[in-house]
Amino acid sequence: MRIDILTLFPEMCEAVLSESIIGRARANGFVEIECHNIRDYTEDKHNRVDDAPYGGGTGMIMQAQPVYDCFCALCESLGKRPHLIYMSPKGKTLTQEKAKELSSLGNIALLCGHYEGIDERVLEEIVDEEISIGDYVLTGGELPALVLADCISRMLPGVLANEDAFMLESHYSGLLEHPQYTRPAEWHGKTVPDVLISGHHANIEKWQHEKSLEVTLEKRPDMLAKAELTAKDKAYLEKLKNGAE
Ligand code: SAM
Repeated sequence: MRIDILTLFPEMCEAVLSESIIGRARANGFVEIECHNIRDYTEDKHNRVDDAPYGGGTGMIMQAQPVYDCFCALCESLGKRPHLIYMSPKGKTLTQEKAKELSSLGNIALLCGHYEGIDERVLEEIVDEEISIGDYVLTGGELPALVLADCISRMLPGVLANEDAFMLESHYSGLLEHPQYTRPAEWHGKTVPDVLISGHHANIEKWQHEKSLEVTLEKRPDMLAKAELTAKDKAYLEKLKNGAE
């Protein structure tokens, strides 16, 4: 999988993408992530990439020309046109499901706005979809692009030590994950649930699944409406709602 990030702040992205799990995955070739500086493509003799908005208002708008030329140069170097996503608070909110869908595309490009955004005309011309990371506004699209690149990358083969780990985590299955514990078995007078040190795998799995239902009911009951639940799950949830557990 290859992810190209079009940004005015490539160093900001590189700083994050060179570290930890994603940094290792890039170094080992499990995911290719390249950052492109939109400013390198400006035709302005003072290297400017933004200007004041028509109609007035505060802040500056990124100009169409450098964004367009940066994307065209990318298409040319790849020999094809990647699916282009504009990171935008006006986009559809990112979900695990959406990230999974994008991870199967093979090549995507992420466009980061800055200041007050990007000239609408270039967005109309080159953008395939807009994705938001939540109902709030950030100073730029770099953090949203990093969030999306991270979320996609960790689902790619080879990126996580245990390849299936992400399938057991919150959101992938439509439920939140059960609580996790590590050594020591007792901390601040609190002990780890007995079942987890019992070595009985079937009981551990049952406990984890029931806890997952319990946590989702407590923290995100809205998710249960969409989750794939068995008759046994539904009965267990009913018991929890009636305070029987
Ligand atoms: N004026 C724009 C508006 O009101 O919709 C907001 C511009 S924002 C200050 C600058 C850039 O940050 C945007 O072009 C976008 O790329 C990025 N951005 C800000 N919040 C975001 C979010 N929640 N999700 C994705 N991108 C976001």
